[in-house]
Formats: sequence, C-alpha cells, structure tokens
Amino acid sequence: MISATPAKQQQFPCTQCGASMEFRPSLAALVCPYCGHQENPHAPATTPSTTLHTTREHAAVQERDYQTFAVQNTQMAALSTTALEVQCSGCQANLTFDPPQTAGNCPFCGTSIVAEPQAAHPLVMPEYVLPFRIGKRDCHASIQTWLASRWFAPNALKALAQPEQLQGVYLPFWTYDAQTESRYTGDRGDYYYETKTRTVTNSAGEQVTENYEER
Ligand SMILES: [Zn+2]
Ligand SMILES: [Zn+2]
Repeated sequence: MISATPAKQQQFPCTQCGASMEFRPSLAALVCPYCGHQENPHAPATTPSTTLHTTREHAAVQERDYQTFAVQNTQMAALSTTALEVQCSGCQANLTFDPPQTAGNCPFCGTSIVAEPQAAHPLVMPEYVLPFRIGKRDCHASIQTWLASRWFAPNALKALAQPEQLQGVYLPFWTYDAQTESRYTGDRGDYYYETKTRTVTNSAGEQVTENYEER
C-alpha cells in the first residue's frame, strides 16, 4: 500500500490544455508541465471512486463508522489502470508506481528492484493527502547542509544524498477515535517490621541477647 511515487494517478487535468497537472511543493500548487498553467489545489478534485484533498487548509474531515467501512468495500480501487506494483525482495515493501516511472531502488531499504512488476492490486483509496512541503532541490540542499555538519558521515550516505537518489514517498496512515473501558482488580500490601530477639557473641566473647527489626 506504499505509493513510491507522487499520486499522479489521481488526475488533475489542466483547465487550459487538458494535460495532467503535477503538484509543485515549492508553490503548493498544481502546475501544468506543458503550458505552465497554475492552479490552487484547495478545491477538491472528484473522481468516481473517491474524493482526494490535496490541501493545506482544513477540508471537512468526514468521520466514518468502522463497522460500515469494514463491511463495504467501496473504497477499494486500483490507483489507476496503468499502475504497477512490485515487492521489494529486501524489505518486502510493496511499491506502487505509474509508468513511465520505474521501481528502481526501494525507497525504504535501497535494494534494487529486479522482480517483474504486476498490475497494481486494488487498495483502500486514500481520502486525504498531505502534500509535500518542499521540492527535490530544497530537500537536497537541506540534506547537504546537514551532511556538511557531520564529519564522520560515511561516503555511502553522501552518495545516497544525490538528487537523483531522492524519492518522495507517501506513507499511509489512519486516524482513529476509540472509546475504551477497562476493569481490573488487584491486591496491595505494606511492608511492616517486627521486633525480635536473638543471641549473639559480642567482642568480649560473651553470649548476649539483642533486639533487631525484621521486615
Ligand atoms: Zn496546461
Ligand atoms: Zn526494500
């Protein structure tokens, strides 16, 4: 259920030329890569399967009853008709991507993906997306700044931090409300001391009786 690529499959057609718009984190806007048209993504886009909000404003979050949600599978859908899915042999993460993008290396463990991708399975469609806040260039700059302050950072890490190695990954998460009630029983006890007597040999070699406290 991990999408290793931006959710391009949620199509946002350009109102000027009809091409598929892309989300540009630095502008927090959808930008048409062909005609340059910009759109504010605050208005939710609707598809037959779901409504996806790519917004920084508070869209009305619709709460769902779990029982109803669990029974109905209406939220299951493929990301797109062309989406592919492949499992990482290193960490078993499922990577979903849309051609012409390729799986390349696993964004989680770095294993290079050699398995043949299959058509993506239907998955529980996300209802909300938190858009990326920074673009690839800013991300790279931040990592470089951080790395520069780390004298002992291994070279392999520096190689990994090259722009072409950076991948944006959407992580799925769920929010829950829960009302719980717990009952428990237990026993408690207190330490107490008793005064007892014992016979000991003192330094003069005499047998004497002394009191002591026993817990
Ligand atoms: Zn356009
Ligand atoms: Zn992996």
